[in-house]
Order: sequence, then structure tokens, then C-alpha cells
Amino acid sequence: MLDRPLTLMAVHAHPDDEAISTGGVLARYAAEGITTVLVTCTDGRCGDGAGGVKPGEPGHDPDAVVAMRRSELDASRTALKITHLELLGYADSGMMGWPANDAPGAFWGTPVREAAEQLAELMRRYQPDVVVTYDENGFYGHPDHIQAHRVTMAALDLVDSPAKVYWTTVPRSAMQRFGTILREAGVERTAPEPSAERSGPPLGLPDDEVTTWVDVSAFGGQKFDALAAHASQSDNIVFLRLGRDRFRELMGVETFVRVRDTTGTPVPEDDLFAGLR
Ligand SMILES: [Zn+2]
Repeated sequence: MLDRPLTLMAVHAHPDDEAISTGGVLARYAAEGITTVLVTCTDGRCGDGAGGVKPGEPGHDPDAVVAMRRSELDASRTALKITHLELLGYADSGMMGWPANDAPGAFWGTPVREAAEQLAELMRRYQPDVVVTYDENGFYGHPDHIQAHRVTMAALDLVDSPAKVYWTTVPRSAMQRFGTILREAGVERTAPEPSAERSGPPLGLPDDEVTTWVDVSAFGGQKFDALAAHASQSDNIVFLRLGRDRFRELMGVETFVRVRDTTGTPVPEDDLFAGLR
């Protein structure tokens, strides 16, 4: 319907976030000839260092972590055949309450409008038809994920709106299934239960509030490879321990909630580009 290639833009907080929640759609849509743009907002300096050394521990060199995660991001990009990678270049703010929240250049401390202007410039350049980011809680409350949400929504108000905007989500039924599969595989759980004793809103959405279920089962291998590219981060190792086949089984569908739409396509839908081709 359009005289230019359809374009998907995914806005993520850290190097590795692209793999776990959107690796399937990035790989699938690239395979379908859609231009894919990954925007990574921070440098990941508060992540694990080589050998699993944690931030604040002796031997954790943030600049070395940035360099390592930058090359991991390139490998993930290759695995997912992402067309364009853009880095906003902010410093990883660490978990809520860490001193890094207030460090110079930290994404969390950056005025939303300032980062939104930068992202809006990318939106004008790439003219995405579909934009994907996190919900207002950044799915699980990480400051950089919350900020990525705020910045994306603010940027969208500065440009001609894309046809469709989505937030990543996980249906509650899948949260339970993840837990079962991880336990059966003998893998320790890191993702909290939706009902577990944690503060903040519950994770994910009731199944009937999930608008968009995209079959990415044919791309589970690429998603696994993308996540394996980020194996320095301990949160990812849990999933990698499942092995390729169990991982593909677990990750066969990626789910979203549609928050803006100009196509009028009824929901539930099974394609981020439904109504656009
Ligand atoms: Zn992240």
C-alpha cells in the first residue's frame, strides 16, 4: 500500500533487551523484507562484567563493560539481521535506588524532552510504520526501561505518528508456563511470579488484554543466538541453559498490547503490520 518499505522501530533500554522481548519479531519481519531499526538508549555500563563480576565489585570496570556489551550488541544485531542500529548513548542508570541513577549522563536523570528530541530525529529519518517499546512500568520497574517508555511516548508526540504503536507484554498464562518450563528444566527462576511478594504493579497482562500475538516459532533459533550473544549477562544465562530446543518451545510467540492504531484492524491480531500490507 505504501511506496516505500515498511519499517519497524524497536526502542530498548540496554544492549540485550532487544533479544528477549522482541528478538522474534525483529528476525521475522526482517525475513519478510521489512526494514528493522533497533534503538538502544543506554550503554549497559551497570551490567555484569567479564566473568560475571557485578557492578560495585572489585574488577568491575564500567568502560570495559560498555565495550564488551557493544560488541555483543553487534553480534545480536547480526543474528537478528537488524537493518539499522542506533545508539542514543546515555549511561545505564542501574537498578532503582543505585547511585548510578544520578550519575552524569545517566538515562534516568536525563530530561525526557531532551532524549525525546533525539529519538524524534530518528523517527523522522526512518519513518517507522510500527514502533515498539515498554509499558509505563518498563515491564518490571527498571528505571531505564521506564525512561525508554517515557522518551518514546514523548518522541511520538513530536513527529507524524506511526500507524501503530505497541508495548511489549507477557500474558499471565505464559508467566506461569515460563515458571513451569524453567522448573522442569532444572533452571533456577529469576523472573518473579506475577503474584510474588514484590512491590509495584503485577507483571504482564491478563490474557484477554493482550491485543497482539505474533508467531515467531520459525525464528526461535535466531532469537536464541541473539540472546547467546549477550551471554555475559547472568539474567540471560538462565534462558540459555534451557538449550536451543526448549528455548524455541518457550519463546514461540511474542506478545504486545496495541496502544495506538490508525488502521482499524480488529484485535486480537497476529501481526504487528496487520492493516498495513
Ligand atoms: Zn534492560
